[in-house]
Amino acid sequence: MIRVAVCGAAGRMGREVVRAVLAEQDLQLVAAVDRELVGADAGTLAACDPCRVMIRADLVQALADTSPEVMVDFTIPSSAMGNIRSAIAAGVSPVVGTTGLSEADFSEIGSLAQAAGVGALVAANFAIGAVLMMRFAAEAVRYMPEAEIIELHHDNKLDSPSGTAIMTARAMAAAREQPARAEPEGAVEKIPGGRGAVYEGIHIHSVRLPGYVAHQEVILGGLGQTLTLRHDSLDRRSFMPGVVLAVRKVRGLTGLAIGLDAVMG
Ligand code: NAD
Repeated sequence: MIRVAVCGAAGRMGREVVRAVLAEQDLQLVAAVDRELVGADAGTLAACDPCRVMIRADLVQALADTSPEVMVDFTIPSSAMGNIRSAIAAGVSPVVGTTGLSEADFSEIGSLAQAAGVGALVAANFAIGAVLMMRFAAEAVRYMPEAEIIELHHDNKLDSPSGTAIMTARAMAAAREQPARAEPEGAVEKIPGGRGAVYEGIHIHSVRLPGYVAHQEVILGGLGQTLTLRHDSLDRRSFMPGVVLAVRKVRGLTGLAIGLDAVMG
């Protein structure tokens, strides 16, 4: 049995994680933490039977009282680093889905995890299909170096561009053998931001609308042709097999692994 704490357990993703943990024979939910709905039964919130694990507000106390082996964090960018530091300090392996962390954050998590001898995993996208889309995009850009990304998410998402889009652009920039074409001379953004955010020559466009969950298109353009790679998370359940896999594997890692790839066979 792997003892699991869920941080952000009252949120959209956290509730789904609670439900996934309760459904797995080898995982045991020992703590559920959130700033909201303190005192509520985490199972009931997740539309399962009551599990007698109540939402608690104090992560440090919850870790001390329940001795989890893994903490899953789906909170908000401004909270996640504090939660990760607390987990590693308690010898608990963090599995982090919260997006919006910086390079400096990754490097701090890596150092803390190494120093504590704790495995940690941060993934911007736990959906297997999205991981494959990133791999295919990195392969395609070697032959079609002109590419742009459109990511589409629900209107409550706080950070933009999405973590997935940034990871995709990073993988494509690393794989691309030719430099991206420069904007044509005289190109003008009539409204600033018209061409989106730019990561190493790859433009990223963020759409935020009710109705979406998490979606991304990578469009590669060539002479007289385009290739579109598209992934759609239609439901938050799409992330759960990846989260469960990461929970099972994270303790076998040394230091920080970035991306679900690190634990996929
Ligand atoms: P949400 O707003 O529904 O839930 C966030 C929850 O975190 C809330 O209940 C909030 O009260 C709680 N919270 C905030 N600070 C906290 C703290 N310090 N301690 C405990 N709880 C705290 O958001 P969501 O839609 O569930 O998304 C959560 C995060 O997951 C976002 O960063 C989102 O981008 C990311 N996300 C990642 C993936 C992935 O595959 N990696 C998929 C979907 C969403």
